[in-house]
Amino acid sequence: MSSQKSIPDFTKGNNLPHIIPQPQGVKWGNSYVRLDEFKFEAENIPETICGLYRNTFSFSHAAGKIFRLVNDPLVKAEGYALKINENEISVAAADERGFFYALQTIKQLKLGNLLACVEIEDFPMLGIRGFLLNLATAQMIGFEEVKRIIEMLGKFKINTLVLEYIDKFPFAKHPAISSVAAFSQEEIREFERLAKDNYVDIIPLVQSLGHVHYVLKHPQYRHLLEAEVENAGHEQFCPLNEGAFELFKEMASEIMEAHPRSRYLHIGGDETGSLGKCPECAIAAAEYGKGRLYADYMNKVCAWVKAQGRIPLLWDDILSNLRYLEIADLLDKDAVLMYWDYWTTKSRSPILVARGTGYGIVHDKRWDGEWNRELQEPEKTIVGKFSNGIDMEKELTDFGHLKVFGKYLGEDFPKYVNAFPYVEFYKDKGFKIIGAPSTLGNRIDDTFGLPNYNRFLCNIREFSNKCINEKLLGLVTTAWYNFPPEILSLGIMATGQNTWREGIFEQGRNLY
Ligand SMILES: [Zn+2]
Repeated sequence: MSSQKSIPDFTKGNNLPHIIPQPQGVKWGNSYVRLDEFKFEAENIPETICGLYRNTFSFSHAAGKIFRLVNDPLVKAEGYALKINENEISVAAADERGFFYALQTIKQLKLGNLLACVEIEDFPMLGIRGFLLNLATAQMIGFEEVKRIIEMLGKFKINTLVLEYIDKFPFAKHPAISSVAAFSQEEIREFERLAKDNYVDIIPLVQSLGHVHYVLKHPQYRHLLEAEVENAGHEQFCPLNEGAFELFKEMASEIMEAHPRSRYLHIGGDETGSLGKCPECAIAAAEYGKGRLYADYMNKVCAWVKAQGRIPLLWDDILSNLRYLEIADLLDKDAVLMYWDYWTTKSRSPILVARGTGYGIVHDKRWDGEWNRELQEPEKTIVGKFSNGIDMEKELTDFGHLKVFGKYLGEDFPKYVNAFPYVEFYKDKGFKIIGAPSTLGNRIDDTFGLPNYNRFLCNIREFSNKCINEKLLGLVTTAWYNFPPEILSLGIMATGQNTWREGIFEQGRNLY
């Protein structure tokens, strides 16, 4: 009788490990190795990396086979080459992130102390692969949850966390702004340390103009308000009030100091609808326009951010708003635009996010009738719940929209438009761009009380593909609203999957 134990055949058929993100090139072997038969060897590899490998696996000092880390400058940035066979295991990379990501892949190949034999050549197709956490809307996310999210980002090879504290930062100079639920300095140091250990860059987001109700609600800052608005969430600073700019600088300085590794600072700048409403701004707007009022202020903010050694990032919506088109010419071209669109789900889309038209998201009204049967899920959801049926050719012409953006919409307009058309517009204006889809983008479109993943996963996938094809800087998936934090897991994995490689999954499986 043989004492040989049977080992699951986990490199075949349904038992193949599903690695997320799916590597660029995989060649499966037909056997497996035991890690305790290997001895660890690394030459000229940073101790932080060697320590990670030693602490993850039980290597044997006495073993005859070698598990080797090798520096190879020919491997692409953040990529790795992994070989596992019966005689040796080798990991080659050109940088620390590459070794860290190879380790994440190996962890997904593990079955107890066994590793599947495989050869993998892998590298990411987007430089910035990120996730945005807004701590004002995500009220359930506390200290432990932020830490778990940072670890999850590293695990799925996401290298960026855009962190918007709002009132959850312990402001030293302006303690009144900090909520009772604010993190401590020590907790924030822990986020930064953990992010570094997981090769995640934290980019802080500090709103410099709009969405500052959390500041303006306090009487001592109320004089910095531009104008009363119906929706308090849209309260903004007065761009001509020096006190507002000073306050922004003091708040941003403290937050940047807490996150010293980031090359970027996100300065917000979205949805500044009450621009030009205070008496002083009204005079300025009448004299030289609201667009210049916005651009002058943002350029001042950008100049300060650059003087701090960082690259400014800002939301794009004001630049593609037809009412303020001059901004795209006036704004500092060093500012990187974060282009948000949470609705587009296919590369040939029946909807257009027509900012500034007054219609919001639009589709040609024939989609409500004669073309309706061509709609697939989740386009039906978008057209039914979020989009306005209009005569696109006529009504967008009247509005002047087509004169500016028509050439970016594609030949099938008005039936279909090229997805994310403002990418080309911003490129033509000389900007660098980061795409921003959403995994949690509204409260009304749910599926049995859960987010409509059917829609959001397609939105993340299509935006990632566009960013890859247009060679943009990267993609950061956003999440809004107050759900249990575990809800973010799928969006994080989808971001890892789609930003790492272009979606080449089977048609059909793509859609649903
Ligand atoms: Zn003003």
